[in-house]
Amino acid sequence: MEKAKIVVVGAGPAGIAVAVEAKAAGIEPVVVLERSDKPCETIHKFYHPGKRVDAVYRKVKVEPIGICRFDTCSKEEFLELMEQYIKDYQLDIRYNQEVHKIEKTNDCFRIHAGKDTVIEAPVVVVAIGIFGRPNRPRYVLPKEVRDRIFLGTQAEIPEHFKKVLVVGGGDSAAETACYLADKGAQVFLSYRRPKFFRINETNLAELEKRVQEGKITLMMETDIEGVEPAPEGVKANFKDGRQMVFDAIFYCLGGSTPENFLRAAGVEVEGKRPKVDEYYETNVPGLFLAGDLVFEKGSIMAAFNSAHKVVEGIKMRYLERLERGC
Ligand SMILES: Cc1cc2nc3c(=O)[nH]c(=O)nc-3n(C[C@H](O)[C@H](O)[C@H](O)COP(=O)(O)OP(=O)(O)OC[C@H]3O[C@@H](n4cnc5c(N)ncnc54)[C@H](O)[C@@H]3O)c2cc1C
Repeated sequence: MEKAKIVVVGAGPAGIAVAVEAKAAGIEPVVVLERSDKPCETIHKFYHPGKRVDAVYRKVKVEPIGICRFDTCSKEEFLELMEQYIKDYQLDIRYNQEVHKIEKTNDCFRIHAGKDTVIEAPVVVVAIGIFGRPNRPRYVLPKEVRDRIFLGTQAEIPEHFKKVLVVGGGDSAAETACYLADKGAQVFLSYRRPKFFRINETNLAELEKRVQEGKITLMMETDIEGVEPAPEGVKANFKDGRQMVFDAIFYCLGGSTPENFLRAAGVEVEGKRPKVDEYYETNVPGLFLAGDLVFEKGSIMAAFNSAHKVVEGIKMRYLERLERGC
């Protein structure tokens, strides 16, 4: 059976940064298992082309403490930066390897991925993020309109959607609305509250500009009760009695912790959040978490920093254990 010192699950910003920090600390071999065919699947899939990647996200400034860092740039530039880290540190990332089981055997972990990959390691870091499970609205989304409903922004948006509804009140809702408006769609943005309070100033200014230009219509204090198929579209039934038909609806409601995955690995989850200590080690000795999984309000810089802390913790607690191997 293949053996490694550390197995990292997920090659997003957090997973890549863990591998970078571990390599820089002289720990080898470190194997990263990624379920998609490329690094940073969340960014590829949910960031629209040309999206500005904010170093200060959701108004929270995070000072970098580790090796990985970035300045505000475009999606494409950010992905290039990550490719550069992978090249510079010669990271061993295995693609198309979705991890489906993490077993503890005596003093080691056995990580099962893809069809028949099994790797043993004394330490495992789970960095799978929260966007494998984008949040859904509470009501049922009928299957007849599935091709008109999007959970989260999508990088690829069909050109023929001319009248669209975006639901949400955060940065990704604002960015999605602006992106769709710039592609020529007539955009409606529905938000439950009377005012936006989570959107950063740049996105708010961009949003307001398009509202002034008549490209985006704000629907503040509106809430949807349900959606249903309509001829040539999807009908949104609002709680105030209004009914409107759209070509497509984009829900930008964030993501949530993959509780089942964590629980199956033995990790204690309190409420919706996994229990971790100051180095993001869980109640399972040797099993660490990094990135969005450990934050209430995650961001790329926070993910990078969590990776630095995790590797500090590994060095402090498990160096001897790593030397012995499995
Ligand atoms: C639309 C949108 C806009 C955003 N804009 C910004 C911004 O401007 N600035 C900013 O700082 N943050 C932004 N964020 C947040 C940022 O993307 C996240 O905080 C960051 O990606 C978290 O990194 P992560 O590595 O923890 O998780 P992710 O980036 O989600 O990476 C997780 C990786 O794990 C892989 N994976 C999942 N399950 C498995 C499995 N079972 N086995 C193997 N691999 C698996 C996934 O394919 C993925 O590659 C935005 C998020 C969204 C959705």
